[in-house]
Amino acid sequence: MRIITKPEAMREASRAARATGRTVGLVPTMGALHEGHASLVRRARGECALTVVSLFVNPAQFGPEEDLASYPRPFEADRALLERLECDVLFRPDPADVYPAGYRTWVTVEGVAEGLCGAARPGHFRGVATVVLKLMNMVEPDAAYFGLKDYQQVRVIGTMARDLDLACRIVACPTVREADGLAMSSRNAYLAPEDRAVAPILHRALRAAQEALDGGERGAAALVARARSVIATEPRIALEYLDLVDPEDLTPLTGPVSGRALLAVAARIGGTRLIDNLLLESGT
Ligand code: AMP
Repeated sequence: MRIITKPEAMREASRAARATGRTVGLVPTMGALHEGHASLVRRARGECALTVVSLFVNPAQFGPEEDLASYPRPFEADRALLERLECDVLFRPDPADVYPAGYRTWVTVEGVAEGLCGAARPGHFRGVATVVLKLMNMVEPDAAYFGLKDYQQVRVIGTMARDLDLACRIVACPTVREADGLAMSSRNAYLAPEDRAVAPILHRALRAAQEALDGGERGAAALVARARSVIATEPRIALEYLDLVDPEDLTPLTGPVSGRALLAVAARIGGTRLIDNLLLESGT
């Protein structure tokens, strides 16, 4: 596996591959890699000749009160995992090369970036869209791989790619979970044992709404109330939002649910912010 830090060297390596007819896949990450990231790398390896994993803790997507400074950065473990996954290139740009002095340009996606985490974390998706576009310009991939655990992020990137005519396929990959249902996340490492023990309730709450739907409940408010009632049984959890939204434009659903609906949740457990979501299927 090659480790590349300079954007020019990265573009050169990618162009060299493409010049010989090899496709390039990009998996953007912030490191502290786990099985969720690994699933994206395997998918990219299965579909592309050259797999690039970027590892960049993007300051632009953290708010002033958020965990940028303390975000886990276990570089050696990340490198070893990527070696085992037979990743071709680990791209680890320096923040000063991504955002040099005088940096002034930002990508704002309207609509899908505004609700859910966009409302709770002002500026977050502006930082995400900007860094993803910049990474795409540095790597020039044929395809880029994202996890549906960050469903809204996938919609933001997909909208950006469509609106800005990006020549890169956006591939959405399923959420990888721990055996007890907790969605894997680099932030799970922050959880104290007593918080880790209650964290799977987020997934259980989402599933309870799906079960209510399976049982014939169609009302959006009733489905949300069902999920909330599960979370309310656990005093360690402070709910930030739990919303039922249209899976395409992410606007809130109010009437009866037909087809598919996205139930998305964000909550704090012992100070750690976790998110999860489930695509509910009504079967009608
Ligand atoms: P991050 O390092 O948190 O920025 O995540 C990098 C990529 O991995 C994003 O596309 C995430 O959606 C994806 N990802 C993170 N956790 C999971 C998971 N549990 N299952 C699938 N993909 C994930």
